[in-house]
Amino acid sequence: MKSERVKCNTCESLVLPSTFEKCDGLCMQCFMKENSGYRPSELSSLKERGLCLYFERWNEFRNKRVPSKKDGETIIKLSHYLPVIQASISGFLRFGEGSFDGQKNIEWLNQLMSCSEGSLNLYIQELEAFNQELVDATKT
Ligand SMILES: [Zn+2]
Repeated sequence: MKSERVKCNTCESLVLPSTFEKCDGLCMQCFMKENSGYRPSELSSLKERGLCLYFERWNEFRNKRVPSKKDGETIIKLSHYLPVIQASISGFLRFGEGSFDGQKNIEWLNQLMSCSEGSLNLYIQELEAFNQELVDATKT
């Protein structure tokens, strides 16, 4: 006998009652869509680590447009460092344990800082501040 399925509150998908409960009345797909691609278990790990606020702020930051840049060297540095820095923060929030090691990010951010100005400089500063806060918040 099949176990009874329930309808997701957002789409037409039928899900197991256990999934329905874990996902606050949604199917896994809708849940992840609403939570920046995070699974319920990853979100509860964030809660346990006291990092929910950082998660929200990080999502806000990620939605910002990277200020446009003109000179070639800056573009190259940005395309090298920015994705790595972003991945390290996203990865830590999602899967990390213990304290966040943001030292390498700080080196890269300093390099970016030295060749950026105006709105890009402010963007880098904000990223650096966030990186530092995450280091401080997870220090053991
Ligand atoms: Zn759904």
